[in-house]
Amino acid sequence: MSRAFNFSAGPAALPEAVLQQARDELLEWRDERASVMEVSHRGKAFVECAEEAERDLRALLAVPESHRILFLQGGATQQFAQIPMNLAGQDDVVDYVLTGAWGQKAASEAKPYAQVRIAASAEVGNFTRIPARPEWSLTPGAAYVHYTPNETIHGVEFHQVPDVGNVPLVADFSSTILSRPLDVDRFGLIYAGAQKNIGPAGLVIVIVREDLLERAPRPMAKIFSYAAQAKEGSMLNTPPTFAWYLSGLVFKWIAQQGGLAAMAERNRAKAELLYASIDGSGGFYRNPVEGGARAWVKVPLTQQDAGLDKAFLVESEAAGLLALKGHRAVGGMRASIYNAMPIEGVRALVDFMADFARRKG
Ligand SMILES: *Cc1c(COP(=O)(O)O)cnc(C)c1O
Repeated sequence: MSRAFNFSAGPAALPEAVLQQARDELLEWRDERASVMEVSHRGKAFVECAEEAERDLRALLAVPESHRILFLQGGATQQFAQIPMNLAGQDDVVDYVLTGAWGQKAASEAKPYAQVRIAASAEVGNFTRIPARPEWSLTPGAAYVHYTPNETIHGVEFHQVPDVGNVPLVADFSSTILSRPLDVDRFGLIYAGAQKNIGPAGLVIVIVREDLLERAPRPMAKIFSYAAQAKEGSMLNTPPTFAWYLSGLVFKWIAQQGGLAAMAERNRAKAELLYASIDGSGGFYRNPVEGGARAWVKVPLTQQDAGLDKAFLVESEAAGLLALKGHRAVGGMRASIYNAMPIEGVRALVDFMADFARRKG
C-alpha cells in the first residue's frame, strides 16, 4: 500500500515534504536529543520555533503591526463563543451573515454572550449563494459583523471581502486561510482551525486587531481572554507544541512554493479543472452553488442518480482517491482540495469521474 490522494475535509492532507521532514527529525529534534513533543514549551528551542512560526505566518499573510497573532486551542468552535465573550457586552448587538452551517453554529453559540442579529441569510435556497451586499441589514454600532468566507460544508465562498464600514469585521477562515492573499487590514479578527489548511488538529489561529484586546466587556477566566493570551505569547498554559511546530513547517513550505500568490494560482487552476468536469458531464454530476460563489478548495458534488453514490465511493477509494464522501447535511460527494492537494490529485479525480460516468451513464 502507498499514500493515496486524500480529499479529506479535515483533518486534511498535509504536504508530503512536510511529513517527510517531520519524520526525519522526529526522534531527535534540533540539538535537543529528544523529539519536539518531549521538550518544554518554555525552553529556548521551542520558544524559538514558536516565534519563528509566528514570524513566518506574519510574513506570508502580510499581517500588519496593528494585529496580534495568537496560537490557541479549542478549535474554531471554541472561537464561536470566545469571540463574543471578548468583543461584545451582554447588551451589545452582534451581526451575523449566514451562508451555511458553520455561520449558523457561530451565531447560535454567540447567543449566551450578546444580542445576536442575523443581518442576512441564504438559508432559503439551502445555502447555494451569497446574499448581495444591498440585501444585508447591518446594525449601526454593532460590536462586530461575523461572516464565514468559505462555508466548508456547502462549498460557498466569498471571493471578495465585504465592506461593513467601521464595524469590526470578524471572519471564520478555517478552510481557506492561506489559500490566497488576504488583506488582513480589513479585519478586526480572523480565526481558523488548523486542521484544514494549516497543520494538525489541536491548534486554532486567531489574528486580532490590537485595539480590540482592550474591550474586555465582562470578567472571565484568563484562559478565555485574548488580552491575557496576547500578553503571555499564547503560552498562558501548555500549548499544543507538536501542532505548532508542524504548522511552522507548513508555513515554510508555502513560502518555498512561492507564497500565497502561487497558492492562489494553483487553487484556482484546481477548482477550474474540477468544476469544468462537473459542468461538462451533461448533468451526470452537479454542483448546486451559484457561479460567483463556488468555493475553490471545497467542492461538493452530487450525481443525478444518487443510487450510484455508494459505487462511486467504493470505486474511487480503490482507485486511490480517499475520503470523497459528502457531508451528511448535503449528501453526495465532496472533494476537499486544500493547499496540500497537488493538481495531479485533481487530474486523477476528474479522470476517474469521466470514466465512472462513461461506464454508468
Ligand atoms: C471545520 C470548520 C469549523 C470547525 O472547526 P473545529 O476546529 O472542529 O471547531 C468551523 N468553521 C469552519 C468554516 C470549518 O470549516
